[in-house]
Amino acid sequence: MRALLLRGGRVIDPAGGIDGAFDLLARDGEIAAIAPSRALPAPDDAELIDCAGRWILPGLIDPHVHLRDPGFPEKETIASGLRAAAAGGFTTVAAMANTNPVDDTPEIARYMIERARAAGGARLIPVSAVTRGLAGRELVDFAAMAAAGARLFSDDGIPIDDEAILSAACERAASVGFAISLHEEDRALTGHGCCHAGAVAKRLGVAGIPTAAEAARIRRDLAIAVGSGAPVHIAHISTAEGLALVRAARARGANVTCEAAPHHFTLDVAAFARYGPNAKMAPPLRSADDVAAIRAGLADGSIDMIATDHAAHDPGSKRMARFGALFPGDREAAPLAAADAEALAGAANGVVGLETALGLALELVHNRTIDAPRLAALMAANPARLLRLERQGTLMPGAFADITVIDPDAEWTVAPENFLSKSRNTPFGGRRLKGVAALTIVNGQIVSRAHRDQ
Ligand SMILES: [Zn+2]
Repeated sequence: MRALLLRGGRVIDPAGGIDGAFDLLARDGEIAAIAPSRALPAPDDAELIDCAGRWILPGLIDPHVHLRDPGFPEKETIASGLRAAAAGGFTTVAAMANTNPVDDTPEIARYMIERARAAGGARLIPVSAVTRGLAGRELVDFAAMAAAGARLFSDDGIPIDDEAILSAACERAASVGFAISLHEEDRALTGHGCCHAGAVAKRLGVAGIPTAAEAARIRRDLAIAVGSGAPVHIAHISTAEGLALVRAARARGANVTCEAAPHHFTLDVAAFARYGPNAKMAPPLRSADDVAAIRAGLADGSIDMIATDHAAHDPGSKRMARFGALFPGDREAAPLAAADAEALAGAANGVVGLETALGLALELVHNRTIDAPRLAALMAANPARLLRLERQGTLMPGAFADITVIDPDAEWTVAPENFLSKSRNTPFGGRRLKGVAALTIVNGQIVSRAHRDQ
């Protein structure tokens, strides 16, 4: 394997306490050296990469994706999902368990790891289900799943309704030392809701999902989980009220972290009125005040990391034949007929995100909501800590040579038809973004170069 010398870039590694002009030598899959710019002689066998004007970050890590493999190859496969991840600048993704079969046995976890190894590209960490079949009744074998490679436990997609099961699951998670990631929705309150409760839902004539659906469940789960000793992680937080609960629990010393998705810090419920199924997810796009609170949380440290919640869906699952024309994208939909309003609830939840997350996160840097080191903390260092990936999330010598080289100024237009993901379900088509992953390096090898259209 050829060594790589990345020269002349701005190296941003908050875990290593570095932000400045450094050269980086990657050899044999590891970071071999880091030194002030031009201080490293180029070894004869090294490929020299000019990084002038570029940012060099620890490889981005996404703690929450749905790759649909095994089970739903029409939506995504591990191979297509990991290619999309690499194109988006991610070197590692944590793949959720709501596959078919569910990732609730070591065999499925091993299948996912083997598929990922064969695919190349980004690395995959399997997320184990908490309960068998995601049915919420019987716990998986936590020790066996951890031994098979799982580094996070979650029934994501489905909340854990039974308090006793959640309590027992937290004890098991504490015993293996990995976090439990919680999808926070009280289904008695979400009902058949299509979008955030309020004026948009009323005008369209669809059922709404109240803030309380998230806040009530976070309040309950923190009360159960916090004393257990398990690291608790709140997935895709979407409301100011939910975030206030997390902040308060942490102020009392709770071992709790949380993540936010690009769609939740970029769009509010008004986007649902324009994009319908392609802006329908759980939890839903919230109010403008909620979006402001999520951005503030990313900036002030109360939100620890960015997660795409990449959820690939085919047009059939999204009922695009019925709803595509009703939600034109360039303007708001007209009020729906009662039968359409009801049918919309059946359109699958979720949006793809791997190929747009970095560009959307960079909007926060360009508009000075966060700085570049904070971006690296949110997208690399902190997810590495959640998953206990000791040799990732940093560029210190001895770490894996997982590196994301960013061209922060390259402007491009989101073109879903060019996604490497198999799915196109996004409300961001046509959006102008500034900044791309110029190079994605995994284990010292370049697995993706910018494929932007511009
Ligand atoms: Zn979820």
